[in-house]
Amino acid sequence: MDPLTHIHAPCPVSFFRSSIDTLRPYVPGRQPAPGARIIKLNTNENPYAPSGRALRALRDLDPDRLRRYPDPLGHEFREAVSEVLAVDPTWVLPGNGSDDLLTMLVRAATGPGRPVVFPSPTYVLYRTLAEIQDAPVVAVPFGDSFTLPVEPLRAAQGALTLVANPNSPSGTATPTDELATLAGALDGLLVIDEAYAAFADDNALALVERHPNVVILRTLSKSHGLAGLRLGFAVAQPPVIESLIKVKDSYNVDAVAAHVGSAAIRDTAYTQTVVERIKASRTRLAAALRTLGCQVWPSQANFLLVRPPAGDASRVYGALEAEGILVRYFAEPSLSELLRITVGTEEDLTAFLTAFETILHDASTRR
Ligand code: PMP
Repeated sequence: MDPLTHIHAPCPVSFFRSSIDTLRPYVPGRQPAPGARIIKLNTNENPYAPSGRALRALRDLDPDRLRRYPDPLGHEFREAVSEVLAVDPTWVLPGNGSDDLLTMLVRAATGPGRPVVFPSPTYVLYRTLAEIQDAPVVAVPFGDSFTLPVEPLRAAQGALTLVANPNSPSGTATPTDELATLAGALDGLLVIDEAYAAFADDNALALVERHPNVVILRTLSKSHGLAGLRLGFAVAQPPVIESLIKVKDSYNVDAVAAHVGSAAIRDTAYTQTVVERIKASRTRLAAALRTLGCQVWPSQANFLLVRPPAGDASRVYGALEAEGILVRYFAEPSLSELLRITVGTEEDLTAFLTAFETILHDASTRR
């Protein structure tokens, strides 16, 4: 017998749960190499530098803080949040970005038979985290103009209901009283993901006092220009915070993030100046895009959802990329004609609009 005939080709053995084998992983927006000459309007970063006080805190960090393990609860940052938002520190839990808090929430509250519910389309990571946890997913379509489908969300009775407000990728916002109605009607947790709330007219922070099932999530990635630092936090009543602490990684907020983030969040005047600048640019960008014939949804975030006049978002995305301008294109049916464009600096937006107009013009002369 040929000695090799009994050796089979490797059969597709998996070392993982079937839900991991079939998982479509979350794909973050492209991050070009540092120094690349790209106008980056694809991941909703803040185009302006972080607070000077935060940068000084980074430079002056006591090296001993790197040698030692950090405080497991990010005590320094917890105190800073408590001071700035006037909530007790026991109501605050910092995380390695708000993604980390989403992971804790899904891990602690959901699983087989304990559904994760959200309006759709929204932040894609919600579904990914639920699938990792083997939790059923109920994605309820938004109404026309991205109105929150309050009644179907209630009827789905999630163990965890997630509402990004303002929502991504639409940028639209739901009034706080509708969120209060939903919170009151749910038996499970309602997470109000306020990653973009600094750019909005209102926020739902006050709901945590009245509703033991409400969790507010905030991040320093957008309003504070610190996406690379990885720092976010949850605000909720202490029993919820205590349950999340049980499932978090031991040292989920590093010493640098806790220290630099504390200086950043205390510098409220600087944050406000930057936020106002971005809101003014948002108004200018939306008006210019509408003049070019685009549909632009009313945004309360630092980005715009845009339908180019011919709905040829994929082509426009590619043509912009060829010009060194990155925006976000989501290759899913309900968003296939749309682009999400982050509000950059005035110079970024001028360069973007010049390229965009040429690309639209090229298409219309070819037709
Ligand atoms: N929530 C929403 C709605 C987001 O768009 C993002 C950014 N991708 C996040 C949460 C996560 O932000 P971070 O982890 O940087 O705090």
